Amino acid sequence: MHIGDRIVKWYEQQGRDMPWREVHDPYLIWIQEVVMQQTRIEQGVGYYERFVARFPDLKTLAEAPLDEVLKYWEGLGYYSRARNLHAAAQQLVSEHGGIFPRDPQALMRLKGIGPYTARAIASFAFGAETGVIDGNVLRVMARVLGDDSPINQPRTRKAFQGIIDTWVQGVPSRAFNHGIIDLGATVCTPTQPGCLLCPLETACVARAEGHTHLLPFKEKKGPKPVRYFHFYMVHDARGARLIRQRPAQGLWGGLWEIPNAEVEAEAFQRQLDPRGGDYCFSLRHIFTHFEMQIGVYTLPTPAAAGWEGQFVSPEKISTFAFARAVLNIFSRWEKNAPQTGLL
Ligand code: SF4
Repeated sequence: MHIGDRIVKWYEQQGRDMPWREVHDPYLIWIQEVVMQQTRIEQGVGYYERFVARFPDLKTLAEAPLDEVLKYWEGLGYYSRARNLHAAAQQLVSEHGGIFPRDPQALMRLKGIGPYTARAIASFAFGAETGVIDGNVLRVMARVLGDDSPINQPRTRKAFQGIIDTWVQGVPSRAFNHGIIDLGATVCTPTQPGCLLCPLETACVARAEGHTHLLPFKEKKGPKPVRYFHFYMVHDARGARLIRQRPAQGLWGGLWEIPNAEVEAEAFQRQLDPRGGDYCFSLRHIFTHFEMQIGVYTLPTPAAAGWEGQFVSPEKISTFAFARAVLNIFSRWEKNAPQTGLL
């Protein structure tokens, strides 16, 4: 039997029952796919539900202020996802009359929509015969094909895309794509795959050759570079805190933060602040491309004279959207303040 047919048949009998799989609205599928990237399902579901309750359709999202969209994303990380959702919603309204294109290539021309999301929308909303490749699917494919090309390289992804697009021809695309994702998540697991339960067992090269434990192969990356920052807690006489908004583009674009500056490793390690701040505590934050070591310092208000930003009272501060690292600083500060008298 053709690989596509085997996967569809298996999915109809064994696939995971998830409520959102009944949804065929491209807008809801898009939001769900973007929220769930880099996010645990348990955490993502709450964000998704709050987001679509406030922005139930494309027009509402396109017309909303970016600050409010970011507020609904607060704590989820990778804030460019929220900025891109907002920009692409505006693009869809202004350039496509508020209608999603059905073709993955046209979807990929929208801000922030990459190959995975474009194909997920095209397949799950419109039934397009295209394969949707995530980490689970890469693992299944590497094993079935007995292919040891590094799966973290774009060229491997491209080659696998060409192959999966042939597997999905002539079979129901939604069932096929949900099926192969589920197969990777529940049977062809990273360690100890359940080959005896797998519909692809007789087609699988890794199984036949006894190599399932060696695949998929990933090229090792070096350690992340480390950068050092001092973040400053500045309060005025009424206890209002100095905050400022980041530029729209780049790291934490459009979010709010407390003043901060990059420093040399030595100044960070020796707790020497170039502005004469008093050291409070340290923490770290991991980004995809670097590790941020954060030293938190207090500064008296006059030392911050001339800095851009605004003083915001403790009651109002929760109405601004901050990055997770800044929220972590606030939370540590609140825990430390009673013992140290820093507040
Ligand atoms: S036979 Fe085993 S290794 Fe091959 S796809 Fe199925 S579960 Fe994965």
